[in-house]
Amino acid sequence: MAYNIAVLPGDGIGPEVMAQALRVLKVVEEKFGFSCNLTEGLIGGAGYDAAGHPLPEETKEICLKSDAVFLGSIGGPKWENLPPELTPELGGLLALRKLLNLYANIRPAVIYEELKEMSPLSERILTDKVDFVTVRELAYGVYFGQPKMLEEDEAFDTMRYRKENVEQIARAAFDIAMKRDKRVTSVDKANVLSSSKLWRRVVEEVAKEYPEVTLNHQYVDNAAMQLMLNPLQYDVILTTNLFGDILSDESAAICGSLGMLPSASYGESISLYEPSGGSAPDIAGKNIANPIAQILSLAMMLESSFNEDAAAKAIRDAVDKAVTGGQRTGDIACGGKSITCSQMGDILCQYIKEA
Ligand code: ATP
Ligand code: MG
Repeated sequence: MAYNIAVLPGDGIGPEVMAQALRVLKVVEEKFGFSCNLTEGLIGGAGYDAAGHPLPEETKEICLKSDAVFLGSIGGPKWENLPPELTPELGGLLALRKLLNLYANIRPAVIYEELKEMSPLSERILTDKVDFVTVRELAYGVYFGQPKMLEEDEAFDTMRYRKENVEQIARAAFDIAMKRDKRVTSVDKANVLSSSKLWRRVVEEVAKEYPEVTLNHQYVDNAAMQLMLNPLQYDVILTTNLFGDILSDESAAICGSLGMLPSASYGESISLYEPSGGSAPDIAGKNIANPIAQILSLAMMLESSFNEDAAAKAIRDAVDKAVTGGQRTGDIACGGKSITCSQMGDILCQYIKEA
């Protein structure tokens, strides 16, 4: 059984952290007896420089023929002044997301006991390991709802959901909860918004299919506060496009470093896996970026797209061992000694082999 993976290293730290993730992939392929066909494609500024477009036709074909897309990161100061449709963000990443019809964005947020001091939250709040996942609806809601209008003195957007849109994202969240602590917090604004009233009703209907999962609801204003005051309460946060955009950034902020946080975006048939952070131009090319976000994105791919749960677990165990054992890149060094991006790759490969 071979899985076809489109590999898009992109810009900034993308190629460096991708290289480490591919080393880890090789190790788990050997250890767990599966194989992957990797096809590399250009995207972002790298695509623009080499092929004149941030999402070249060839890259689209590679992605559409793949079982999953593995992305590094895109963008950087060099490409900031291009026409909008040729920028790495709009012409590259957003166009790719559209091409794959992605409907759910999954962002884990983890604060290790050992890395507590990286978090802006106080020790009083972080009495245990924070570990939750935000499941954000990605294809509908106020970002896409029609009609939209923008005139000189008036403008509006439409927050619109259909029952089947909510069912799809709710099932994604409950499926994830089944593999975790079996608790879902659905975040909406059902005291004010009609779309949220529908959202809440449909989520409750879907919950009946998952009797083992506990469901509760929070209003988004309360959730924004609770994330700061008591993040330990969460297992899976299920929310709309707009609220998820805001809450998942807030969740990343309380974790301390973007270098640790992976993400997945589910499509109907092809899903996309990438770090939560961006291209980090300030540290690109120096071999000091933290490759863990990219490597944990690989673990999400192996689990969600290929059902290689044992390989995913081996990767997560190796990351846990490295972090708790004091192996730190600069972003998580807390003022102590730090190792390079490739040294982190060495250590994780070694831990997986030894386990
Ligand atoms: P982009 O526009 O691509 O998002 P950015 O300038 O906003 O670029 P981010 O990548 O979002 O930069 O990163 C924000 C901060 O987090 C930067 O200081 C960056 O160095 C740091 N950072 C992000 N990813 C990593 C990583 N993997 N390892 C270490 N630091 C990181
Ligand atoms: Mg950024």
